[in-house]
Amino acid sequence: MDIRSRFAPSPTGRMHLGNIWIAFLNWLWTRQRGGKIILRMEDIDRDRCRKEYEEGILEDLSWMGLDFDEGPEGIYSYGPAVQSRRYDIYDSILSAMEKKGHIYPCYCSRSRIHQVLSAPHEGEARPVYDGHCRNLTPEERASMTKNPCWRVRMEESTISFTDLFYGTITRTLKAGADDFVVRRADGLVAYQLAVSIDDGEMGITHVFRGNDLLDSTPGQAWLIQKLGYQVPTYGHLPLLVDTRGIRLSKRQKGITVRELRNRGLRPEDLIGLLLHLAGGLPELRPVSLKEALEDFPFEKLTALQKKHIVLPVS
Ligand code: GLU
Ligand code: ZN
Repeated sequence: MDIRSRFAPSPTGRMHLGNIWIAFLNWLWTRQRGGKIILRMEDIDRDRCRKEYEEGILEDLSWMGLDFDEGPEGIYSYGPAVQSRRYDIYDSILSAMEKKGHIYPCYCSRSRIHQVLSAPHEGEARPVYDGHCRNLTPEERASMTKNPCWRVRMEESTISFTDLFYGTITRTLKAGADDFVVRRADGLVAYQLAVSIDDGEMGITHVFRGNDLLDSTPGQAWLIQKLGYQVPTYGHLPLLVDTRGIRLSKRQKGITVRELRNRGLRPEDLIGLLLHLAGGLPELRPVSLKEALEDFPFEKLTALQKKHIVLPVS
């Protein structure tokens, strides 16, 4: 099988240690197997994404030496690897789904149901729905005055997918409760839809990301299958957390790759640190990318099956 993995950052801030951790492990696993890497900018949320952050991501990745085969610029085989340039793909799939009755408009107020556009990371409320608008009549719909969001019409189903660290995961999805949002009331497509279409459409065979997104995966796998694509194999990686157990985020200071670089950290120092955290390197020392590739087989990185890895941040 030709391996195609992707690194899919949202350019909503500078890359921090938690982001480069995922990017590095994705890169290492894929390159050790001669696979291709796609860098996909997940910038559907136009309010939160900035061009300068996109440039920052490219700069940090290239400083680390993490190359990719398809990205926001240059060649690509399945449409641009930038979500804001893929709206026509999302729109045409959504209108096909609408024609088949696979999605329906939901007029519920935000206060009734909490809904999210971006990836629902751990600790953030996940949308749970009561199916209120599933069976509105055409007359009831016509009488509504507000713009609806759109939801999938989930069928009661069992979905299985493979995770490199967790093994086979099987979940039951419920009609109503798992009717996740695919388009927001303001017209923007939701993360769940965009990521599923992109992973399917771009022929992604392996998805590496933080295990805080594990709960989003059954819905995505269901949608990928429903749309006729091949469900990828997942690799939900442990999250780096600080000494208080809090996930690293862009809000914390001092942990962006840029700040570390400015403090004199070299790529080989960072690679050594990441391999150490991954359980592959007993004591900290600099490691080149070439050495990482040749001497650190992914299977030997023993800490990767943990839920969290504590990073001493000062
Ligand atoms: N763009 C998403 C995020 O930064 C990544 C989601 C994914 O890798 O599936 O949270
Ligand atoms: Zn509703």
